[in-house]
Amino acid sequence: MPDVLIIGAGGVGQVVTHKCAQVPEVFERIVLASRTEEKCRRIAGQIRRPIETARVDADKLPELVSLIERVRPALVINVALPYQDLSIMDACLQTGVDYLDTANYEPREEARFSYSWQWDYDQPFRNAGLMALLGSGFDPGVTNVFVAYALKHHFDTIEELDIIDCNAGDHGQPFATNFNPEINIREVTARGRYFENGAWVETDPLAVSREFDFPEGIGPRRIYLMYHEELESLTRHIAGIRRARFWMTFSDSYLTHLEVLRNVGMTRIDPVHYQGVDIVPLQFLKALLPDPGSLGPLTKGRTCIGCLVSGTRDGRPRRYYVYNICDHEAAYREVQSQAISYTTGVPAMIGAKMMLTGAWRGNGVFNMEQLDPDPFMDALNRHGLPWTETFL
Ligand code: NDP
Repeated sequence: MPDVLIIGAGGVGQVVTHKCAQVPEVFERIVLASRTEEKCRRIAGQIRRPIETARVDADKLPELVSLIERVRPALVINVALPYQDLSIMDACLQTGVDYLDTANYEPREEARFSYSWQWDYDQPFRNAGLMALLGSGFDPGVTNVFVAYALKHHFDTIEELDIIDCNAGDHGQPFATNFNPEINIREVTARGRYFENGAWVETDPLAVSREFDFPEGIGPRRIYLMYHEELESLTRHIAGIRRARFWMTFSDSYLTHLEVLRNVGMTRIDPVHYQGVDIVPLQFLKALLPDPGSLGPLTKGRTCIGCLVSGTRDGRPRRYYVYNICDHEAAYREVQSQAISYTTGVPAMIGAKMMLTGAWRGNGVFNMEQLDPDPFMDALNRHGLPWTETFL
């Protein structure tokens, strides 16, 4: 039975470790490593099965290689930060181990994420007979699988896609982010971008918004257009798509705080020289904000993330919506994390399960929509993220 090495003991790492521990027939031995080993031990202490822990700085290739050589896992699950993607992929190539992550690479000094750097690893992974699965979280991740499932079962062509991410939960804090604050704020303050008629259209950050009526009692909420990484891979892999957009909800309080922080320069990512030291304002802000992990017991309400798809079937137009609703308090009861970490960690475990059981196999670098959606959709229903589909 395979061993797995999880790197990153944050909010998502906690959920992945819990969920892998729930599936002993696939994940026989689990090793959790992070920069701060104490965080790994704290997570291990929540779980009845033995979880081994280790310390690693995943920015340092030799440290990664010696850890992987010692553990000898069948798969490395990278749930550290996007900055570490390439060093962990390099370490997997050097040691001959498969790779999975939930967010695409982003250079630390520039708020720009793109699959291009990781797609460049396709040939080396092919040559080594290894598989890398990119973006196995919720969005990206489940949203990509939703699109592949729609195309496989309900559409001959997909023309328009709107991915809509709603967090209708409330943590009661004036300002906090539900996942790593630095990564979250870099993403939200970036310029908006969507795909239309073969070209990318740019907007000012969060400048385009509209109302969307969410199902199952969540009701109408304002959604804001943003650029998100799965748009890059889906527009490449879904032939004929004419328009693809990503939308997210934000509370008025979040947006007001963000505007002030941006106006005063606190979201800058370039170093500022202050009293003899260089300080990156956004990193300093992260140190002041609540740790997303601490929001678990405070957060109430639900998330609703789904895909609205338009296209044709048998020559007729068709409109389809597929979504998951996840309850923050139920997630906390199960794995002691709120639903944002839960909705990311469960698909990471399922992606790993797909690879380790051979349901998803191949040599090279893969985005989720390139693989058969059926076993993954089935696993979502069985591992805590059931989905609903409707024709509109
Ligand atoms: P956290 O900040 O809570 O956790 C990140 C963890 O990685 C921390 O434990 C941190 O350790 C560790 N880490 C950071 N740098 C290093 C390093 N150099 N070496 C070893 N460990 C390191 O983030 P989240 O858990 O919220 O997010 C994890 C990942 O999931 C991110 O890449 C994020 O973008 C992605 N994500 C994906 C989503 C999706 O739907 N696809 C949604 C949400 C998140 P330490 O605390 O010691 O610094």
